[in-house]
Amino acid sequence: MDKVLLDRLTADFPEVKFSYGKKFLFRPPNKIMLGPEEPHDSLLLLHELGHFLCGHRNFYTEPERIKMERAAWVKAKELCRNYGVEYDEEVVEGELDTYRSYLDQRSRCPKCGLTRYQTRDGVFHCPKCENDI
Ligand SMILES: [Zn+2]
Ligand SMILES: [Zn+2]
Repeated sequence: MDKVLLDRLTADFPEVKFSYGKKFLFRPPNKIMLGPEEPHDSLLLLHELGHFLCGHRNFYTEPERIKMERAAWVKAKELCRNYGVEYDEEVVEGELDTYRSYLDQRSRCPKCGLTRYQTRDGVFHCPKCENDI
């Protein structure tokens, strides 16, 4: 982890609590866990800070989650400029792809393979199977 960057962020965002954990994670409303050292850890850290600055809380549906991920990356891009961290588009797309394929997998109906939709309570519904009843 870039100690200088972390010191600057701690000074600039005294309301955020940084701690070390297994992976990079934002815990609403103001906790950021720092994951293991890796080539893009500064970028990942700024992404988690992006969630904080966007005021993100919980998400209800997977598309909402992807929207929040995107917003946090847009914020991270700004932060990269301010703190002189390299914004690597490939890393960002890779991270977003992880969420996209997860959504893909979860939204597929296990019975018929059709794409299901999700209601606000987080439950998936299949347009075909639910109408067959
Ligand atoms: Zn995120
Ligand atoms: Zn189905």
